[in-house]
Amino acid sequence: ENKLSQQAIDLENEYGAHNYHPLPVVLSKGEGVFVWDVEGKRYYDFLSAYSAVNQGHCHPAIIGALKTQAESLTLTSRAFYSDMLGKYEQFVTNYFGFDKVLPMNTGAEAVETAIKLCRKYAYEKKGIAENEAQIIVCKNNFHGRTTTIISFSNDEVARKNFGPYTSGFLKIDYDNLEALEETIKANKNVAGFLVEPIQGEAGVYVPSEGYLTKAKEICEKHGVLFIADEVQTGVARTGQLLAVNHENVKPDILILGKALSGGVYPVSAVFSSSEIMDVIRPGQHGSTFGGNPLACAVAIAALNVVTDENLAEKAEELGQLFRSEINTRLVEKSKFVSLVRGKGLLNAIVINDDEDSSTAWDICIKLRDNGLLAKPTHGNIIRFAPPLVMTKEQLLECVSIIESTILEFEN
Ligand code: PMP
Repeated sequence: ENKLSQQAIDLENEYGAHNYHPLPVVLSKGEGVFVWDVEGKRYYDFLSAYSAVNQGHCHPAIIGALKTQAESLTLTSRAFYSDMLGKYEQFVTNYFGFDKVLPMNTGAEAVETAIKLCRKYAYEKKGIAENEAQIIVCKNNFHGRTTTIISFSNDEVARKNFGPYTSGFLKIDYDNLEALEETIKANKNVAGFLVEPIQGEAGVYVPSEGYLTKAKEICEKHGVLFIADEVQTGVARTGQLLAVNHENVKPDILILGKALSGGVYPVSAVFSSSEIMDVIRPGQHGSTFGGNPLACAVAIAALNVVTDENLAEKAEELGQLFRSEINTRLVEKSKFVSLVRGKGLLNAIVINDDEDSSTAWDICIKLRDNGLLAKPTHGNIIRFAPPLVMTKEQLLECVSIIESTILEFEN
């Protein structure tokens, strides 16, 4: 029974590094909001590869662009120009409203890029003494797992025994404006504030209304760059193209990844004004694959899907429906689910159990059995981030699966 799945799991266990703990389900096909396992069972995908597959699995327009481009040119490196990169850069800067873009591949790489950009700008334009720049980050942040990024993480699992760490980071509470202003005032070399508009991995923690607006004002007042990591929240996920748009905030530096390509290909990017980006000179940063023709073609197609299918509006509408349904059908009925929170289609439920329990995991196993795939962010928090191309009927069916699974689990 489930022989094919077990074989695939055994192979990963035998030959792969054990750097993940996947939910036991082995997928081999995806289409729109659905994925199928190797035994042919169909599931609703309620994770979207951590908010990468916003446009749905294997979207024909994106796959079409991938195939067409793959047949003419896939990689030049930046040793030469390509006929795609400039076109992509023009498209994407217009799309998000910035002067300039620096193309990379993964989210963590783009965060590293933003850190380098912020520091260089501080030394060359703000007169901060070399090696003295500080960047303020938030507690319980998640920005990736490179050595520099884990240096300012407080996830002990991600951090422990990977030192020595990179210095130059100050950590404050999330959603705390006083801490932000006081930390800037107390440290004369603060160059940037790196923040997630909603903390995704922390458990979909939405800050107070007005937080981002006021944080940006404080940064501006003190000449500190406001750096938004929208790798998880960006590209229509939260009901606006960018989560900062909910508060009409324009970051000095914007970081995107994941859904920039609809999850079809690794594409990330850092955006800023020309004044900031122009401090980067040839040889100071780059990547063989960053901005490759295949990535450019895929990302343009993926963003056109976001526009053509009104994915931001859909996320907003479906998100409202999801939270209100979960509230009336689960939170109010169940002693077990204490709340649902989120924006657009980035949501989480919090279960009345301690953070280190296995309850969220056990529920995700039952959800899997009932045809819906989600993953805990903590022992007591389950994130729900389906593709944005879902219909209202499908969403309501998913709510029913979640409701009955949890009520059954509780009893
Ligand atoms: N920043 C944020 C806010 C993220 O959620 C993630 C991934 N979950 C990253 C950065 C890292 O992206 P990647 O896994 O592509 O390196």
